[in-house]
Amino acid sequence: MIVIKLKCDKKIRERFKYYGIDRRKLENFLMLHTNNLVKTRKWWVHEIKVKGIAGASSQYFWNEDEIEIALQCSECSTKKQRRIYFLQSLVHEYRHWIQAQLQRVAEKKITYTEKDVEERNANYSKNKYELECAEWEKIVERFNEFI
Ligand SMILES: [Zn+2]
Repeated sequence: MIVIKLKCDKKIRERFKYYGIDRRKLENFLMLHTNNLVKTRKWWVHEIKVKGIAGASSQYFWNEDEIEIALQCSECSTKKQRRIYFLQSLVHEYRHWIQAQLQRVAEKKITYTEKDVEERNANYSKNKYELECAEWEKIVERFNEFI
């Protein structure tokens, strides 16, 4: 059983409040999907720092226990869209954390460059590990109203 605790900074806590996101429900969502994916018979407790950052692109630095979530969304026009984008960004970076910390994927497997990300080209969007994150973005969109 893997237990996930999110240690959110002030900006993230403010966003949770503004969007009406229940941290414990979000943790439960993450735990359910994490435990479906990564099987273990032991108890593991992981604390992940969640930091709010300016701009519209979130990031994860490989092998760290911190994810950085963008507080803006350039293509969103409604609060509902912004809420979904925020949750998707968080889940996306969290999925990278699983790859690095639980699945032990080496950083060198992430073969695309900053330029590929900017251009959103196939090097980036068809990367196996990005596709895994994109899958979780779809799941969280579906469960948006329950978090
Ligand atoms: Zn990514």
